[in-house]
Amino acid sequence: MATNINLFTDKEATNWFKACIALNVTKEGLTNFLEKELQKVHSVVGTSCGKCCIEKLIKCPTLKYCKKTKGNNCIFHKSQQPQHCQICDKVKQNIVTLHRYGGPSWRNTHAENWAHDYWEIGKCFLPLDGYSSVSSVQESDFNGVISIMLNCLHFQTCLSSACISPPPPDDACLLEKVRQIGRVVRHTSDCKVTDADLQEYFQTLSTLLVDPNCLQHDPSSTIACARLRDLQNDRLSIKELGDLLKEAYRTLVLAKEAGERFSLEAERTLEQVTKAGERRLKSATHAGQQRLKIKTKVGESTYLRTSH
Ligand SMILES: [Zn+2]
Ligand SMILES: [Zn+2]
Repeated sequence: MATNINLFTDKEATNWFKACIALNVTKEGLTNFLEKELQKVHSVVGTSCGKCCIEKLIKCPTLKYCKKTKGNNCIFHKSQQPQHCQICDKVKQNIVTLHRYGGPSWRNTHAENWAHDYWEIGKCFLPLDGYSSVSSVQESDFNGVISIMLNCLHFQTCLSSACISPPPPDDACLLEKVRQIGRVVRHTSDCKVTDADLQEYFQTLSTLLVDPNCLQHDPSSTIACARLRDLQNDRLSIKELGDLLKEAYRTLVLAKEAGERFSLEAERTLEQVTKAGERRLKSATHAGQQRLKIKTKVGESTYLRTSH
Protein backbone atom coordinates (compact mmCIF):
# COMPACT_ATOMS: atom_id res chain seq x y z
CA MET A 1 0.00 0.00 0.00
CA ALA A 2 1.64 3.23 -1.15
CA THR A 3 1.20 6.41 0.81
CA ASN A 4 1.80 10.09 0.31
CA ILE A 5 4.04 11.94 2.70
CA ASN A 6 1.57 14.67 3.43
CA LEU A 7 2.70 15.31 6.97
CA PHE A 8 2.76 19.04 6.24
CA THR A 9 0.36 21.27 4.44
CA ASP A 10 3.36 23.21 3.18
CA LYS A 11 4.87 21.61 0.08
CA GLU A 12 8.36 22.91 0.75
CA ALA A 13 8.33 21.62 4.32
CA THR A 14 7.35 18.19 2.98
CA ASN A 15 10.24 18.51 0.53
CA TRP A 16 12.67 19.18 3.38
CA PHE A 17 11.42 16.13 5.20
CA LYS A 18 11.82 14.02 2.07
CA ALA A 19 15.38 15.31 1.77
CA CYS A 20 16.09 14.13 5.34
CA ILE A 21 14.78 10.67 4.51
CA ALA A 22 16.70 10.64 1.21
CA LEU A 23 19.97 11.28 3.08
CA ASN A 24 19.27 8.35 5.38
CA VAL A 25 18.37 6.09 2.49
CA THR A 26 21.59 7.06 0.70
CA LYS A 27 23.68 6.39 3.78
CA GLU A 28 22.10 2.96 4.14
CA GLY A 29 22.83 2.31 0.48
CA LEU A 30 26.50 3.14 0.93
CA THR A 31 27.07 1.16 4.13
CA ASN A 32 27.81 -2.22 2.57
CA PHE A 33 30.18 -0.71 0.00
CA LEU A 34 31.99 1.28 2.67
CA GLU A 35 32.42 -1.75 4.93
CA LYS A 36 33.85 -3.79 2.08
CA GLU A 37 36.27 -1.09 0.96
CA LEU A 38 37.41 -0.26 4.49
CA GLN A 39 38.37 -3.90 4.95
CA LYS A 40 40.68 -3.46 1.96
CA VAL A 41 42.12 -0.27 3.48
CA HIS A 42 42.67 -2.23 6.68
CA SER A 43 44.83 -4.79 4.90
CA VAL A 44 46.69 -2.09 2.93
CA VAL A 45 47.86 -0.15 6.01
CA GLY A 46 49.33 -3.26 7.67
CA THR A 47 48.97 -4.83 11.10
CA SER A 48 49.72 -2.93 14.30
CA CYS A 49 51.11 -4.48 17.48
CA GLY A 50 47.71 -4.28 19.17
CA LYS A 51 49.06 -2.75 22.37
CA CYS A 52 49.74 0.91 21.57
CA CYS A 53 47.01 3.44 22.15
CA ILE A 54 46.89 6.60 20.07
CA GLU A 55 48.39 8.79 22.83
CA LYS A 56 51.55 6.69 22.68
CA LEU A 57 51.84 7.11 18.93
CA ILE A 58 51.53 10.91 18.84
CA LYS A 59 54.55 12.96 19.86
CA CYS A 60 54.18 15.72 22.38
CA PRO A 61 53.49 18.50 21.62
CA THR A 62 51.35 17.97 18.50
CA LEU A 63 49.26 20.82 17.18
CA LYS A 64 45.47 20.48 17.73
CA TYR A 65 45.97 17.62 20.23
CA CYS A 66 48.30 18.64 22.99
CA LYS A 67 47.43 21.25 25.54
CA LYS A 68 49.70 22.04 28.46
CA THR A 69 48.25 22.80 31.85
CA LYS A 70 49.89 25.02 34.48
CA GLY A 71 51.98 22.19 35.83
CA ASN A 72 53.33 21.67 32.29
CA ASN A 73 51.41 18.42 31.93
CA CYS A 74 49.78 17.73 28.58
CA ILE A 75 46.06 16.98 28.82
CA PHE A 76 46.14 14.69 25.78
CA HIS A 77 49.14 12.75 27.07
CA LYS A 78 47.95 12.70 30.67
CA SER A 79 47.51 8.91 30.88
CA GLN A 80 50.05 7.73 28.27
CA GLN A 81 53.41 9.19 27.30
CA PRO A 82 54.62 9.08 23.68
CA GLN A 83 56.62 5.96 22.98
CA HIS A 84 58.28 4.66 19.85
CA CYS A 85 56.75 1.52 18.31
CA GLN A 86 58.13 0.61 14.94
CA ILE A 87 55.19 -1.58 13.93
CA CYS A 88 52.48 0.92 14.87
CA ASP A 89 54.42 3.92 13.56
CA LYS A 90 54.49 2.27 10.16
CA VAL A 91 50.69 1.70 10.21
CA LYS A 92 50.20 5.26 11.38
CA GLN A 93 52.36 6.60 8.56
CA ASN A 94 50.39 4.53 6.03
CA ILE A 95 47.16 6.06 7.31
CA VAL A 96 48.64 9.56 6.95
CA THR A 97 49.67 8.76 3.37
CA LEU A 98 46.16 7.54 2.55
CA HIS A 99 44.58 10.71 3.95
CA ARG A 100 43.80 13.27 1.25
CA TYR A 101 44.79 16.17 3.49
CA GLY A 102 47.43 14.33 5.51
CA GLY A 103 45.59 14.95 8.76
CA PRO A 104 43.80 11.85 10.07
CA SER A 105 41.41 12.39 12.97
CA TRP A 106 43.42 10.58 15.64
CA ARG A 107 41.09 11.63 18.40
CA ASN A 108 38.33 9.38 17.02
CA THR A 109 40.36 6.20 16.80
CA HIS A 110 41.38 3.50 19.27
CA ALA A 111 44.80 2.48 17.94
CA GLU A 112 45.02 -0.55 20.23
CA ASN A 113 42.20 -2.02 18.11
CA TRP A 114 43.79 -1.28 14.73
CA ALA A 115 45.02 -4.85 14.39
CA HIS A 116 41.60 -6.50 14.44
CA ASP A 117 39.03 -3.79 13.70
CA TYR A 118 38.93 -2.18 10.26
CA TRP A 119 36.45 0.42 11.51
CA GLU A 120 39.10 1.90 13.85
CA ILE A 121 41.21 2.54 10.75
CA GLY A 122 38.17 3.93 8.92
CA LYS A 123 37.53 6.35 11.79
CA CYS A 124 40.84 8.09 11.05
CA PHE A 125 39.17 9.51 7.91
CA LEU A 126 36.17 10.96 9.74
CA PRO A 127 35.73 14.62 10.66
CA LEU A 128 38.13 15.65 13.42
CA ASP A 129 35.85 15.17 16.42
CA GLY A 130 32.70 13.58 17.67
CA TYR A 131 32.90 10.00 16.41
CA SER A 132 35.03 8.40 19.10
CA SER A 133 32.18 6.27 20.47
CA VAL A 134 30.60 5.42 17.11
CA SER A 135 31.24 1.71 16.79
CA SER A 136 30.44 0.85 13.16
CA VAL A 137 29.73 2.20 9.69
CA GLN A 138 26.10 1.33 10.36
CA GLU A 139 26.08 3.57 13.41
CA SER A 140 27.82 6.42 11.66
CA ASP A 141 25.80 9.26 10.15
CA PHE A 142 25.57 10.50 6.58
CA ASN A 143 28.26 13.13 7.06
CA GLY A 144 30.64 10.56 8.52
CA VAL A 145 30.16 8.12 5.64
CA ILE A 146 30.68 10.79 2.98
CA SER A 147 33.67 12.24 4.85
CA ILE A 148 35.44 8.88 4.79
CA MET A 149 34.87 8.57 1.05
CA LEU A 150 36.19 12.10 0.53
CA ASN A 151 39.18 11.93 2.86
CA CYS A 152 40.47 8.43 2.17
CA LEU A 153 42.38 8.24 -1.11
CA HIS A 154 41.55 4.54 -1.48
CA PHE A 155 38.07 5.57 -2.68
CA GLN A 156 39.63 7.06 -5.78
CA THR A 157 40.21 3.51 -6.92
CA CYS A 158 36.64 2.32 -6.41
CA LEU A 159 34.65 5.33 -7.58
CA SER A 160 34.55 6.53 -11.16
CA SER A 161 36.02 9.88 -12.12
CA ALA A 162 32.45 11.23 -12.40
CA CYS A 163 32.33 11.15 -8.59
CA ILE A 164 35.77 12.46 -7.72
CA SER A 165 36.83 14.81 -10.45
CA PRO A 166 37.51 17.60 -10.16
CA PRO A 167 39.11 16.30 -6.95
CA PRO A 168 37.88 17.46 -3.54
CA PRO A 169 37.67 20.07 -2.10
CA ASP A 170 36.42 21.48 -5.43
CA ASP A 171 32.72 22.38 -5.11
CA ALA A 172 32.06 20.88 -8.53
CA CYS A 173 33.09 17.41 -7.30
CA LEU A 174 30.01 15.17 -7.03
CA LEU A 175 31.01 13.81 -3.62
CA GLU A 176 31.45 17.37 -2.33
CA LYS A 177 27.99 18.20 -3.69
CA VAL A 178 26.59 15.19 -1.87
CA ARG A 179 28.20 16.33 1.39
CA GLN A 180 26.87 19.82 0.81
CA ILE A 181 23.28 18.51 0.53
CA GLY A 182 23.70 16.98 3.98
CA ARG A 183 24.97 20.28 5.38
CA VAL A 184 22.21 22.37 3.84
CA VAL A 185 19.49 20.01 5.07
CA ARG A 186 20.92 19.75 8.60
CA HIS A 187 21.65 23.43 9.05
CA THR A 188 18.39 24.74 7.61
CA SER A 189 16.85 27.77 9.27
CA ASP A 190 13.31 27.24 7.95
CA CYS A 191 13.06 23.48 7.21
CA LYS A 192 12.01 24.11 3.63
CA VAL A 193 13.34 22.90 0.29
CA THR A 194 12.10 24.10 -3.11
CA ASP A 195 10.87 21.59 -5.70
CA ALA A 196 13.81 22.37 -7.97
CA ASP A 197 16.35 21.85 -5.18
CA LEU A 198 14.73 18.59 -4.12
CA GLN A 199 14.88 17.24 -7.68
CA GLU A 200 18.53 18.15 -7.81
CA TYR A 201 19.18 16.40 -4.49
CA PHE A 202 17.55 13.21 -5.76
CA GLN A 203 19.51 13.45 -8.97
CA THR A 204 22.86 13.96 -7.22
CA LEU A 205 22.34 11.23 -4.61
CA SER A 206 21.16 8.74 -7.26
CA THR A 207 24.16 9.50 -9.47
CA LEU A 208 26.45 8.48 -6.63
CA LEU A 209 24.47 5.30 -5.89
CA VAL A 210 24.66 4.08 -9.49
CA ASP A 211 28.34 4.88 -9.94
CA PRO A 212 29.46 2.37 -12.58
CA ASN A 213 32.72 1.42 -10.87
CA CYS A 214 31.40 -0.60 -7.88
CA LEU A 215 28.21 0.84 -6.47
CA GLN A 216 26.11 -0.06 -9.48
CA HIS A 217 26.76 -3.73 -8.68
CA ASP A 218 26.19 -3.41 -4.94
CA PRO A 219 22.81 -4.85 -3.85
CA SER A 220 22.31 -2.36 -0.96
CA SER A 221 23.05 0.53 -3.23
CA THR A 222 20.55 -0.75 -5.79
CA ILE A 223 17.86 -1.04 -3.11
CA ALA A 224 18.61 2.49 -1.92
CA CYS A 225 18.33 3.80 -5.45
CA ALA A 226 14.90 2.19 -5.92
CA ARG A 227 13.82 3.62 -2.57
CA LEU A 228 14.89 7.11 -3.62
CA ARG A 229 12.77 6.75 -6.74
CA ASP A 230 9.78 5.62 -4.67
CA LEU A 231 10.28 8.44 -2.22
CA GLN A 232 10.52 10.94 -5.04
CA ASN A 233 7.28 9.64 -6.60
CA ASP A 234 5.34 9.07 -3.35
CA ARG A 235 5.33 5.33 -3.87
CA LEU A 236 6.68 4.16 -0.50
CA SER A 237 4.59 1.68 1.45
CA ILE A 238 3.31 2.57 4.91
CA LYS A 239 5.66 0.02 6.42
CA GLU A 240 8.67 1.44 4.59
CA LEU A 241 7.78 4.99 5.45
CA GLY A 242 7.36 4.02 9.10
CA ASP A 243 10.77 2.37 9.14
CA LEU A 244 12.39 5.37 7.46
CA LEU A 245 10.79 7.74 9.92
CA LYS A 246 12.16 5.73 12.80
CA GLU A 247 15.55 5.65 11.15
CA ALA A 248 15.52 9.41 10.55
CA TYR A 249 14.76 9.99 14.20
CA ARG A 250 17.44 7.54 15.35
CA THR A 251 19.96 9.38 13.19
CA LEU A 252 19.02 12.64 14.82
CA VAL A 253 19.54 11.18 18.28
CA LEU A 254 22.89 9.64 17.32
CA ALA A 255 24.05 12.79 15.57
CA LYS A 256 23.23 14.81 18.66
CA GLU A 257 25.25 12.37 20.75
CA ALA A 258 28.15 12.74 18.33
CA GLY A 259 28.01 16.52 18.74
CA GLU A 260 26.81 16.97 15.16
CA ARG A 261 25.26 20.37 14.74
CA PHE A 262 21.72 20.41 13.47
CA SER A 263 20.06 23.79 13.32
CA LEU A 264 17.61 24.15 16.19
CA GLU A 265 14.78 24.45 13.71
CA ALA A 266 15.79 21.24 11.90
CA GLU A 267 16.07 19.37 15.17
CA ARG A 268 12.71 20.51 16.47
CA THR A 269 10.87 19.84 13.22
CA LEU A 270 12.39 16.41 12.72
CA GLU A 271 11.49 15.43 16.25
CA GLN A 272 7.91 16.65 15.95
CA VAL A 273 7.38 15.15 12.53
CA THR A 274 8.80 11.74 13.31
CA LYS A 275 6.61 11.48 16.38
CA ALA A 276 3.48 12.77 14.63
CA GLY A 277 4.30 10.63 11.60
CA GLU A 278 4.66 7.52 13.70
CA ARG A 279 1.27 8.15 15.33
CA ARG A 280 -0.40 8.65 11.98
CA LEU A 281 1.25 5.62 10.48
CA LYS A 282 0.24 3.55 13.47
CA SER A 283 -3.40 4.48 13.08
CA ALA A 284 -3.16 3.97 9.29
CA THR A 285 -1.59 0.55 9.83
CA HIS A 286 -4.21 -0.25 12.48
CA ALA A 287 -7.00 0.68 10.05
CA GLY A 288 -5.29 -1.42 7.38
CA GLN A 289 -5.07 -4.39 9.75
CA GLN A 290 -8.73 -4.02 10.68
CA ARG A 291 -9.64 -4.10 7.00
CA LEU A 292 -7.46 -7.14 6.55
CA LYS A 293 -9.13 -8.92 9.46
CA ILE A 294 -12.61 -8.23 8.11
CA LYS A 295 -11.53 -9.43 4.70
CA THR A 296 -10.03 -12.59 6.16
CA LYS A 297 -13.24 -13.26 8.07
CA VAL A 298 -15.31 -12.77 4.96
CA GLY A 299 -12.89 -15.04 3.13
CA GLU A 300 -13.14 -17.65 5.90
CA SER A 301 -16.93 -17.68 5.91
CA THR A 302 -16.92 -17.90 2.13
CA TYR A 303 -14.58 -20.83 2.42
CA LEU A 304 -16.79 -22.48 5.04
CA ARG A 305 -19.85 -22.00 2.92
CA THR A 306 -18.29 -23.34 -0.24
CA SER A 307 -16.65 -26.27 1.47
CA HIS A 308 -19.90 -27.54 2.90
ZN1 LIG B 1 52.67 -0.67 18.86
ZN1 LIG C 1 50.92 16.06 24.40
